[in-house]
Amino acid sequence: MTSRRQLLKTLPAVVGLGLLGTAGLASAQERRRPKKGDAGATAGGALPPVDPAKDPMAKSVNYVEKHADMKKPELKIERQGTKWEAQFCKNCALHTVLPGTTERVGCTLFTGKSVAAEGWCGSWAKKS
Ligand code: SF4
Repeated sequence: MTSRRQLLKTLPAVVGLGLLGTAGLASAQERRRPKKGDAGATAGGALPPVDPAKDPMAKSVNYVEKHADMKKPELKIERQGTKWEAQFCKNCALHTVLPGTTERVGCTLFTGKSVAAEGWCGSWAKKS
């Protein structure tokens, strides 16, 4: 059985660990939250756009902001029964709807960034 003296010795350590945990959680939440003026904090909560010319992932999947800008005929192929002409980021299985915009969407390939709803890349996949 724990004596009152033992309890009084251990109580400050337990409370201290609890406070450290709370501070760490608050700090992590603060780091994730964009601040006004940050590059990632834009109107409507939209994510910053992927740069097709600089982003290594964008280059590797041949991402284009405008579907019509795709110049490689070998990539303009039917995928999962969908003609290339009907493939857009906005109907890709990997896209996510972003609040406050219909022109940009999220994409699981580009965490923390947005792609054009009318864009396209070689990883386009049909929604099931
Ligand atoms: Fe667009 Fe889909 Fe490619 Fe993402 S995976 S960039 S949503 S086509």
